[in-house]
Amino acid sequence: MTAFAHEPNPQPLSVNERAGLLADPGFGRVFTDHMATIRYSADEGWHDAKITARGPVTVDPATAVLHYAQEIFEGLKAYALDEGGIALFRPDANAARFRSSAERMAMALLPEEMFLESCRQLVLTDRDWIPAIDGGALYLRPFMFASEVFLGVKPATEYLYCVLASSVGAYWKGGARAISLWVSHDYTRAAPGGTGAAKCGGNYATSLVAQAEAVRRGHDQVLFLDAVERRWIEELGGMNVMFVMADGSLVTPPLTGTILPGITRASILQMARDEGLTVREELYSIEQFRADAQSGALVEAFACGTAAVVTPIGKVAGPDYAFDIGSGGTGQTTARFLQRLSDLQRGRAPDPHGWLHRI
Ligand code: PMP
Repeated sequence: MTAFAHEPNPQPLSVNERAGLLADPGFGRVFTDHMATIRYSADEGWHDAKITARGPVTVDPATAVLHYAQEIFEGLKAYALDEGGIALFRPDANAARFRSSAERMAMALLPEEMFLESCRQLVLTDRDWIPAIDGGALYLRPFMFASEVFLGVKPATEYLYCVLASSVGAYWKGGARAISLWVSHDYTRAAPGGTGAAKCGGNYATSLVAQAEAVRRGHDQVLFLDAVERRWIEELGGMNVMFVMADGSLVTPPLTGTILPGITRASILQMARDEGLTVREELYSIEQFRADAQSGALVEAFACGTAAVVTPIGKVAGPDYAFDIGSGGTGQTTARFLQRLSDLQRGRAPDPHGWLHRI
């Protein structure tokens, strides 16, 4: 087990200040008093693990990440359980994905046990920051960047790994509602052989212009198509996508290397198989999506991810088309997966696959 040195924040927020922030935290704006850090160098390996006051990280202007973008991250949540205590949801899956992202970006590989322990220690330290509101959780943001001061183009030999914790409530402004998608026919997110399956900052940098266009046109999220034929549905800017067909089957794009292997995606597919639903991980084109929504062969669509959990998709539009999904609201299957997943994450339902990691 990695030993974390603890240097408590000498000026934590007062109980009242914290309560004020936790009443309506939104997403990603309220941060806790502490952070976890571990350093890596080729000479020393992983070292200097600690929990300290959350604060600025100062970097030299020649720090490698500022030039060549060797950076990866993760996102997972800690939930307050109804029975008392706190649990992380499938943190081992995040630890494993963090390692595969690191591999793709030629970065140092953090042992999974250090990833888990850093999350555990930070949550235990800042456990009072989990908002006691509907949908409240502590969102953990583990990330790592090339901290070597060197301008040569090569994999860095020094890295800083850090975990932040953010008190969160609902992801969508205006609360739970069906979202609207803009299908980008101009921009793609990831190409075969590229970094689409890695959770690296660069993937998000390149998605922002498309996401901004979606918002400018009055939609919530961008839907990306494949980079080769520009017709196969891939995923949203920060969520995977699933389709519920009239015959009861669940369809989602396969993991071909250009989409992020979402942990929520994997969990929902498993829950669907456990329920006896037919699950099809297969290519689904935008033309077929449109035709199926219009004919009624498709009855629901939803987005899924750690932050947005399960969010119904009500409307879809592209440059010269627009269509609604079902009644444009929340379908039955979408509502059932949202409920089942939320219940499981809060310890209100059986956990047959051992996904809750009590800390
Ligand atoms: N796709 C992208 C591009 C994402 O950023 C995320 C959020 N991490 C997801 C899918 C969903 O992944 P997860 O269920 O592991 O949060």
